[in-house]
Amino acid sequence: MPPQQPIYILGAGIAGLSLAQCLRHRNIPSVVFERLSHDANRPAYGITLHKRVYRPLLTALGMTENDFFQRVALEAPDRGGTVHDRDTLRVNRMALERELRRGLDIRWASKLKHLRDLDDGVGTMEFDHSLRAPFLSQPYRFLVAADGVHSTARSHLQLSDPSTKLKVLPYVVFNGRRRLQSFDVPPSLLQAFERPSGISHTQGDVLLTITADSYNPYTRKTGVSYTLSRPARPGDEFLLDRDVSDARAKAACFKHDIEALAPLPPPFASLFSIGKASDDRWLHWLMRSLVVDRAVLARAAREKGVLLIGDAAHAQPVPGNGANLAIEDALELAARIGDDGEVDVEGFLEAREQTWLEGRRVAEEYLREVHSGDESETAKL
Ligand SMILES: Cc1cc2nc3c(=O)[nH]c(=O)nc-3n(C[C@H](O)[C@H](O)[C@H](O)COP(=O)(O)OP(=O)(O)OC[C@H]3O[C@@H](n4cnc5c(N)ncnc54)[C@H](O)[C@@H]3O)c2cc1C
Repeated sequence: MPPQQPIYILGAGIAGLSLAQCLRHRNIPSVVFERLSHDANRPAYGITLHKRVYRPLLTALGMTENDFFQRVALEAPDRGGTVHDRDTLRVNRMALERELRRGLDIRWASKLKHLRDLDDGVGTMEFDHSLRAPFLSQPYRFLVAADGVHSTARSHLQLSDPSTKLKVLPYVVFNGRRRLQSFDVPPSLLQAFERPSGISHTQGDVLLTITADSYNPYTRKTGVSYTLSRPARPGDEFLLDRDVSDARAKAACFKHDIEALAPLPPPFASLFSIGKASDDRWLHWLMRSLVVDRAVLARAAREKGVLLIGDAAHAQPVPGNGANLAIEDALELAARIGDDGEVDVEGFLEAREQTWLEGRRVAEEYLREVHSGDESETAKL
């Protein structure tokens, strides 16, 4: 039998890597193209994974649940014991991706710049020359594009359908990050963030969430990430649209919101003060959602040979459930790729569509709920 053509995957994020691992488990070759270099800093925020989602992935990885817990969970192993009695697990995204990369053929520094349409059944990925990509172009018959919420593939497919545009939701959001060294961290902070790993604080319709993303019991270092969000008010229109490059500059507009926040109640006030935020890394975020219409995705696969999955096809406002959906997409798609490399696109889309739509509905409803209060309340997450 001639050697099988690899499945080409764009994006070494959670969806792309999970798919490649599932294929590897079935001895179906794949090649992953990733815009970042292998040693680039990757996001290390905490994400909540559902056990029913990550367990089938562990089978593909050939990893026990205990090993997974030891390597990626945010909870300290020696304080664990909880891995078996909860439905979810908080994991460090960077650590998760590190595990997912093992044994895969990943072409780093391969940033897709342009997709050339199918010609006689063959399309071409053209990569950014300036990044010293290992090669400059790659022909394909079929490409799985898992290149995230700002998908280059999605925009180059020129699908000209309103469902392919990100919908900006009427909330304003800003995120700050701070590294805390052991000497900054009173023992009470470690206890309060130990389990669960954060707090949410509402003051009227303003929500402040604080999470200790990557507490390491050995180095006694932690990174604190905090997000302040509220419904947009008249005059906030300029915060609902911006270029990616404006994210830092626009974060400064939240100074007033921060000053208006009452101090956190004890014991949290002694743990973290947003008022001491001047040296933190601030970013303005947009709350966005997306579900590309199923017929549009099917047409892109049929006519252009490109199937979008993960955040490239459907995105939820942060934090959302996108990582879980990305893994589920990968599991479902891998099950619909035959040993001969044939892909059942229609079956995949039919299986996933309702979950994507329902996920968006739930995420948007959650946003409304958490910003509707007129009382102050602080709760552990
Ligand atoms: C702060 C925060 C908290 C979150 N918490 C949760 C949570 O608790 N639970 C949950 O389920 N989800 C959560 N999410 C959402 C989750 O992280 C995303 O939904 C998930 O990462 C989507 O996976 P993906 O593989 O589709 O996209 P991504 O993870 O974004 O991966 C896309 C990959 O494609 C690469 N790429 C992009 N453009 C190109 C290009 N032109 N050429 C080549 N490669 C390219 C990127 O570098 C990246 O590696 C959270 C998100 C944030 C920001």
